[in-house]
Amino acid sequence: MKGYMLIAGKKVFKKEEIEIHFPYDGSLVGTIPRGDSKDVELAVESAKVGFEKMKELTAYERFRILERAARLLSKRSRKFAQLLVMEVGKTINEAMGEVGRAVNTITLSAEEAKRVLGEEVRFDAAPGVKGKVGFYRRVPLGVIGCITPFNFPLNLTCHKVAPALAAGNAVVIKPSENTSLTVIKLGELLIEAGFPPEAVNVVTGYGEEAGDALVRHPDVRMITFTGSVQTGKIIMSRGGLKKYAMELGSNAGVYIDKDQKEKLPQIAEKVARGGFALAGQVCISVQRVFVHSSLFEDFVKEVVEFTRKLKVGDPRLEETDVGPVIDKGAADRIMEWIEEAVSLGAEVVCGGKRLSDTLIEPTVVINVPREARLFRSEVFGPVIAVNGVNSLEEGIEAVNDSPYGLQAGIFTDNIKAAFKFAEEVECGGIMVNEIPTFRVDQMPYGGVKESGIGREGPKFAVEEMTEIKTICFDTTL
Ligand code: NAP
Repeated sequence: MKGYMLIAGKKVFKKEEIEIHFPYDGSLVGTIPRGDSKDVELAVESAKVGFEKMKELTAYERFRILERAARLLSKRSRKFAQLLVMEVGKTINEAMGEVGRAVNTITLSAEEAKRVLGEEVRFDAAPGVKGKVGFYRRVPLGVIGCITPFNFPLNLTCHKVAPALAAGNAVVIKPSENTSLTVIKLGELLIEAGFPPEAVNVVTGYGEEAGDALVRHPDVRMITFTGSVQTGKIIMSRGGLKKYAMELGSNAGVYIDKDQKEKLPQIAEKVARGGFALAGQVCISVQRVFVHSSLFEDFVKEVVEFTRKLKVGDPRLEETDVGPVIDKGAADRIMEWIEEAVSLGAEVVCGGKRLSDTLIEPTVVINVPREARLFRSEVFGPVIAVNGVNSLEEGIEAVNDSPYGLQAGIFTDNIKAAFKFAEEVECGGIMVNEIPTFRVDQMPYGGVKESGIGREGPKFAVEEMTEIKTICFDTTL
């Protein structure tokens, strides 16, 4: 497929192109134009016009267009899923799951279009004030720059674009260079559903080039970014005075309490599914598992037994459970981190082999020292680190021993332990008797510490993507 940029509803091609390859075997999937600062300039100018046109739409009209977009996407599920398989390398089952969630995210955003609300301000609650009445309203920001990662190009772009449009903004999207074709198709679909073509723009290209120009543009009022911590920090240092929403990485931890012996098989299955879904390339993948030492050996046995059943291979096949990682460079890094952990004293008890440039066996590593990158940083690959701990307190301390704080989980039947964990673990979301990988699209989602700033989930994203305007009347004059 020959990709193009979408600027004011027009397809824009360029001489210089970037190739997109199928992560499984490296074959060519398509090309996208290498957009630059001039293209970003045109896209932002278009979005400024688009914002004026968005002002003409009522809340009901925005609701209806988003509803239509959700229906169109639902009808084209299979086509979008096939493109996701080819661009991301996720399995066809994972891809169908992503499309279904994206339909839901757009539907939830449609509903929020009707709820962009303010409230009355009690001006007379201040001493000496009489006869003043008024309210505040939430108004759209204007042009929002949406920068998205490779792993969920469809649903995570919907998490930005759909609430932005629901609230009446216009957008310029810069998708990941690896997975832009899906996002181009989404942009077209939103225009087909009825949004002004100028309000939905997609500029493809390199992050350091097109992405950087979008970040620095003074007429872009907000950057909503999902990606790595490193890129997030660069963006915030370069973008200047604007709003930011930052959905960044994590090395999610889960604690298994001493009373869970009977449930270990189910917990082990959940942990393995949460660690190996999308070959571990999920921001809330289970990466660090802390098991009460009395259950350590039994848990390791269960998790290894389940992991060995997983089928690794061609993501186009229905029977495949674990597909490739995004590229050879990512696989090189993941293997290096496993080797480093082993050199520091850890032990690989399952997997650990590289099957091709991008295929890595689902891997379980035990007794991982805290100085290893496999413990400290985000591995973003099919690897789980399992360590024993002697108490709930030690479990909480271990989960918190991370620069990140996106989501965490605890398995326990002890309500006091669950509350203590929920109170003391520094994360945006705590899952009790569930893995940290659990997310539904309406919940507030986002992190603390280096996992980010702000919350997504259409209701919460609408809050981030609007600002408050206060209106006061003097009724005495
Ligand atoms: P990434 O390398 O940080 O890239 C994310 C996006 O930023 C891409 O579109 C990239 O473009 C662009 N970019 C790179 N440098 C830029 C710059 N200087 N200025 C502006 N934009 C720039 O992340 P990724 O590898 O695609 O995604 C994996 C990361 O995303 C992981 O850390 C994961 O945890 C995180 N993530 C977080 C969440 C969440 O909700 N918290 C969800 C999913 C993923 P190019 O592709 O052209 O480089």
